[in-house]
Amino acid sequence: MDNVVHQGTRGQGTGDGRQGNGGRRQGFDTVAIHAGQEPDPTTGAVVPPIYQVSTYKQDGIGGLRGGYEYSRSANPTRTALEVCLAETEVGARGLAFASGLAAEDALLRAVCRPGDHVVIPNDAYGGTYRLFAKVAEPWGVVFDPVALGDVDALRAAMRPETKIVWVETPTNPLLGIADIAALAEVAHDSGALLVVDNTFASPYLQRPLDLGADVVVHSTTKYIGGHSDVVGGALIASDAELGERLAYHQNAMGAVAGPFDAWLTLRGIKTLGVRMDRHCANAEKIVEMLVRHPSVRGVLYPGLPDHPGHDVAAKQMRAFGGMVSFRMESEEAAVRVCEATELFTLGESLGGVESLIEHPGRMTHASAAGSPLEVPADLVRLSVGIEDADDLLHDLDRALS
Ligand SMILES: *Cc1c(COP(=O)(O)O)cnc(C)c1O
Repeated sequence: MDNVVHQGTRGQGTGDGRQGNGGRRQGFDTVAIHAGQEPDPTTGAVVPPIYQVSTYKQDGIGGLRGGYEYSRSANPTRTALEVCLAETEVGARGLAFASGLAAEDALLRAVCRPGDHVVIPNDAYGGTYRLFAKVAEPWGVVFDPVALGDVDALRAAMRPETKIVWVETPTNPLLGIADIAALAEVAHDSGALLVVDNTFASPYLQRPLDLGADVVVHSTTKYIGGHSDVVGGALIASDAELGERLAYHQNAMGAVAGPFDAWLTLRGIKTLGVRMDRHCANAEKIVEMLVRHPSVRGVLYPGLPDHPGHDVAAKQMRAFGGMVSFRMESEEAAVRVCEATELFTLGESLGGVESLIEHPGRMTHASAAGSPLEVPADLVRLSVGIEDADDLLHDLDRALS
């Protein structure tokens, strides 16, 4: 797996990929560690400094050094992150935002006008659902939640006004899988954009732009940042013209990533590959234990051969990820497990080095109650961290008993 070559890398603005000596394409970890991060030209600092600055001296009016004018428009630490994000996702342009939802909002307002229609997954991230239902819809952008594991269901939901097909795969918290390449074809047949929220997989496990998607969305708060110490978001566009349009909105609307947040995120991305390998390996061991446990009614994990999306996941992902959900006999039993673990910390969010446990119905997805996106009350969600697997297994087994 470590030898999977970074296919078709396109650097920001270069269009032909990050290449090392002799024109070889570089592997994922090399790109994550080096893209956008040349040693500082003045001091040789091997890590991009935190440019904690709002404005830049001009050499005569309009004489900008490196294009820097004002830090909402561009900041060197943020540029380093944006180039790295573009190259790890194999896109033409990367943009870093103050949060995942700020990135989603910028995309939505750059692409949609009143009267337009959007398709979202019928088990979308709760905050994404809320953005469409409570913010976009009152402005006249309508949406339909659709079961995107079924390509025909998308075909039936498409309208002439559909501008975006919004895909999450795997989904949160039900770990449903959607076939990115097949959905891209349906979206493109109607002239809509295919947008993939790649937060759960990360670019290490899945590269939607290679599969035909037009834009990738990230909450970099999760696996990319990876250490539960920074909130951020990103958009990566496959095409430079769309990237430019998104960059215009990023600057015009202003929800940019600050320099320190950009620096922390960049520090996280360097170890994404090695962290994801451990997240996946630990998750697989936990799944093996859960499927055999008498108090567990069912385990949701795309790595299980009986998962309805297993074949598609195996085709489009390098491994099956670090998120695991399972169902207990009752809501009370689910709540009890969440409150009984010690090493798995009870908390929202995901993707950090430390393991987390939560009850989606009462926590992350409480805002979806009563909507088509309501989640089962007996569901427990794990974000499996990179601690020693034996300690995690012991902790869960104790909490289940
Ligand atoms: C957390 C999350 C978001 C929102 O990102 P924030 O950084 O919290 O704004 C979007 N999509 C998914 C799948 C998420 O898990």
